[in-house]
Amino acid sequence: MDSAEVSRLFREFGATGTMPARLDAWLKNPVRQKRAPYQVFDNIWQVGLTWVSSWAVSTEEGWVLIDTTHEPFVDFLLENLKTVGIPPESVRLVLMTHGHFDHVGGYHRLKPLLKNARFAMTERGWAEAARYAAASQGTPNAWIMSEGKDLVVRDGEELICGGSRFTVLETPGHTWGTASYMYEARRGNRCWNAVTVGGQGLNAIEGPEQVRAYIESMKRLREERLGIAVDLTAHPFSTGLTEQIPAIQALKPSEPHPLVNRAAYLVRLDRLIAGASARLQKELQAAAR
Ligand SMILES: [Zn+2]
Repeated sequence: MDSAEVSRLFREFGATGTMPARLDAWLKNPVRQKRAPYQVFDNIWQVGLTWVSSWAVSTEEGWVLIDTTHEPFVDFLLENLKTVGIPPESVRLVLMTHGHFDHVGGYHRLKPLLKNARFAMTERGWAEAARYAAASQGTPNAWIMSEGKDLVVRDGEELICGGSRFTVLETPGHTWGTASYMYEARRGNRCWNAVTVGGQGLNAIEGPEQVRAYIESMKRLREERLGIAVDLTAHPFSTGLTEQIPAIQALKPSEPHPLVNRAAYLVRLDRLIAGASARLQKELQAAAR
């Protein structure tokens, strides 16, 4: 399935609350979800699955990962690290966007394997991960979240690793504990602000207040002040990234980089805001009943 079709099926899931059988089969299919790692910038690789990202960012003192993917596919992530040449002990920091299984489901396996890494998430992110994992027990989609918290991060915090800066932007909405992370993407002697937006779906909404928070968070990510030009998505289908891999791999140094595109990033955020505004009206109507 291409990115457009996956996006369509996720929208259907969001609207009906029922997981389409085709989408479920695709998400659980190891052949579809196994993805060879690919480099997108001098310092950034995608090492995740087809449907959910794990970004690996190199610094002068080791690597930073963004999100952990999930079981039973964490082996694919570990293979990808090996393929790129990222020894487990060279990972120093793992930034986790929020407490859903597809972003933190790998924590349980990775925590003892990545011995030199701190794993970071917001206070509410840690709490929701524990809650969602507990709620999954006894279901076909059960997953494990190790007890306790590692590193708790807050809005505006800057984590420095090997001279590279990773800025925490708390962006509640998709879940209350969701964070986005901003960091540098480098190519030759140029660099841009990149972001991994922590959550985009409206599939875990519990009421109008949460949708309002979502809209505010997306507006904040648009701000000129942040100057974000590179949208390194948490879910490759959401930006059509998978289809862009051949072009990115064939890119010549003289050619403009297709992922440096603030205009496309703003269009995507505006679509998310429009979708959330429509959802807010529905939530308000439901609350008034
Ligand atoms: Zn999520």
